[in-house]
Amino acid sequence: MNQKLLDKIKNVPQLPSLPAVAVKVLELAKQSNQSLANVAKVISSDPALTAKVLKTVNSSFYGLPHQVSTINHALVLLGMQTVKTLALGFSLAGSLNSNKSAKFDYVRFWRQSLFSAVAARTLAKTIHMKEPEEAFLVGLLSDIGTLAMHRALGAEYDQLLDSCEGDQCELVRLSREKYDLDHAQVGGAMADHWKFPKSVADPISQHHDLTEGSYEPGSLIEIVYTGVLCGQVFAAKRPGMIERAKKDLATRFKLDEAKINEIFREIDSQATELSKLFEVTIEPGRSYQDIEDEARLVLEEITLQSQAQTRQIEIQNQKLKTEATTDGLTGLANRHYFDLFIAQAFEQAARSGRALSLLFLDIDKFKSINDTHGHQAGDAVLKCAAKVIKSIVTEPDLAARYGGEEIAIVLNGKDASAALGIAEQIRCAIQSEAIAFAGKKIPVTTSIGVATADSQQRFQSPNDLIGAADLAVYAAKEAGRNCVRASSPALHRGAA
Ligand code: GH3
Ligand code: MG
Ligand code: MG
Repeated sequence: MNQKLLDKIKNVPQLPSLPAVAVKVLELAKQSNQSLANVAKVISSDPALTAKVLKTVNSSFYGLPHQVSTINHALVLLGMQTVKTLALGFSLAGSLNSNKSAKFDYVRFWRQSLFSAVAARTLAKTIHMKEPEEAFLVGLLSDIGTLAMHRALGAEYDQLLDSCEGDQCELVRLSREKYDLDHAQVGGAMADHWKFPKSVADPISQHHDLTEGSYEPGSLIEIVYTGVLCGQVFAAKRPGMIERAKKDLATRFKLDEAKINEIFREIDSQATELSKLFEVTIEPGRSYQDIEDEARLVLEEITLQSQAQTRQIEIQNQKLKTEATTDGLTGLANRHYFDLFIAQAFEQAARSGRALSLLFLDIDKFKSINDTHGHQAGDAVLKCAAKVIKSIVTEPDLAARYGGEEIAIVLNGKDASAALGIAEQIRCAIQSEAIAFAGKKIPVTTSIGVATADSQQRFQSPNDLIGAADLAVYAAKEAGRNCVRASSPALHRGAA
């Protein structure tokens, strides 16, 4: 902590000093054996303060069944702590408001202070803490250090305040980074200087220091920390505050969603009422309903965005998958995918005992097509032949570009005669397709070899099946091209 700067801030002459009546109330409150009558006498000596305390005591904030007309009565009904807190709060508010700095954003200051105070008190009551009024007072003073830092550091600190948009945790982080000092530490030092009891001064200075083991669970420090988070839901300009506060309430205090919403609604109504009693402006504030609606919209947007992202990723994955398995020129499966496919088909056929046929198709005299019409014409012929093949070969079968102008076709569950039939169909279809390039008709024929793994002809591996189909293509070429040949000598005779 930057002690030098802290001392400088403490000695700034315009720092608010506590009015005499508040000092006396504090003095009396510290003495445990003090009679209520004595405290009542001190507060009653300031008529304006008395009026404010009574107005508050009679407001729905405390929900007393009967009208209270004297401080004495208030003390009996609400106890020393409550009345002391109110008197201190009012003295402080009065002294801050009468000694205003033109450049300081008091609306922002009071908004955060009042919402933090009410939130801390509501939370303290929810978890049945002994002194909820003390939580109120610490919450109310939790931001007082920002005023002192503004007075000592001027525009430089105001800029920092602006940039945080009311996010208190961010303010502490940036302030420590820049000054090695934050508003909590300054506020604690001020409370100390005003001779506030340690039970109040310590939580003010430590309410942003929730390192594990540094506080008792359910203690004032923890309540004020969460109270500030809840307060900034209403006071901050930034979105996302409500999720942070809700998460903190749920994990730290084990509160369910219904209870959390109830707490926020209570904070909303009480802070508005209290701002009138404190005669400070916190408007334009935002109602809890507005905040919830906004949070829901943000959530919906995030959900929509992530759905769109998921869809985008799915499309991209699909595209990558297609690219990885498809031949760019023909749109048939590529060699890599063919290898995987035939290995799997071979294994399944062996297991099930069903037939597996493989056609090996080679375009006849393709080199001379290239030589005569050009490479682009050769490409067009390949594409066209692939299109014809795709129209005949459908799932669960597969046509793949094996290499160059060679196309391999896997026929699942088709025996040799079915395979020969399909090979013939393909050969005829390509031959009769009117393939043309640059206005010139290009006659195209193919030679197809057929190999079938079945009960009559067994193969050790997919490679053996491929080898057999390849040999059958050679046979077709030797037989004069533009024909189909089977690898099995028996079927060989029956083929065209
Ligand atoms: P055969 O009837 O004996 O099969 O004769 P062929 O000319 O078809 O056989 P060869 O293997 O001698 O020539 C194949 C040619 O295919 C050689 C190569 O330049 C061409 N080729 C391979 N891939 C492509 C391609 O993607 N596009 C084009 N245009 N030509 C290709
Ligand atoms: Mg070839
Ligand atoms: Mg060829």
